[in-house]
Amino acid sequence: MNAKVWLVGAGPGDPELLTLKAVRALREADVVLIDDLVNDAVLEHCNNARIIPVGKRGGCRSTPQAFIHRLMLRYARQGKCVVRLKGGDPCIFGRGGEEAQWLRERGVEVELVNGITAGLAGATQCDISLTLRGVARGVTLVTAHTQDGSSLNWKALAQSGTTLVIYMGVAKLSEIREELLAGGMAADTPVAMIENASLPHQRECRSDLTAMEEDAWAFELKSPAILVIGAVAASSEISGLSTDIRAYGL
Ligand code: SAH
Repeated sequence: MNAKVWLVGAGPGDPELLTLKAVRALREADVVLIDDLVNDAVLEHCNNARIIPVGKRGGCRSTPQAFIHRLMLRYARQGKCVVRLKGGDPCIFGRGGEEAQWLRERGVEVELVNGITAGLAGATQCDISLTLRGVARGVTLVTAHTQDGSSLNWKALAQSGTTLVIYMGVAKLSEIREELLAGGMAADTPVAMIENASLPHQRECRSDLTAMEEDAWAFELKSPAILVIGAVAASSEISGLSTDIRAYGL
């Protein structure tokens, strides 16, 4: 039997946003290695799979990546149906690419299954259209967090004319604000900060580039949250409203 691992996106939190393919993989799974941003509710689709949590948040040390790699390999070589379940999409800031490569180099078949990434879900839940004719001609997904300390080309981002969707930005609000202002982005550019997107306790804070740090602080914005920066974050553009909804929360 061929060793195989499914790298599956569990979506942003709402279990109904799971794909049918993800459900099929979970049904067939013998072993599920699950990240901590995954809503446990999706595990209801499993049939007697062994569930192994492999992520920790909030300042705790994560399960070392090398250990996760070895676990997947071991179970796959035993002929087990292995599902590696990740929050959102496995290949958007999810290490799906590197895990797939590592496994394939060892002769393991890998099947990637998309999930709805948090940035897309968060925007939609707040009626924000990330691209909008005449307003935003594109969207850029970036992370404010780098392991090697390298920096983004903030000036290029500030002047790209695309909607910016920033992951892992809660602890970097000050830097994001400073860099985008220095890069030439307008001070009144609208910002939406969306915490726990698609979950019942989702919260949304509308602000602008100048005030985002202060507003997030007053709102007590916590991770996981995404930031949407750009003209489309101003108002319910989808429904054609032009009201300024710079309100705290919903
Ligand atoms: N692969 C995931 C992203 C993992 S990186 C995806 O595609 O969504 C972790 C970051 O994702 C968090 O710091 C946060 O910025 C974002 N995130 C994940 N789930 C979220 C949620 N439900 N609401 C808001 N942001 C979320």
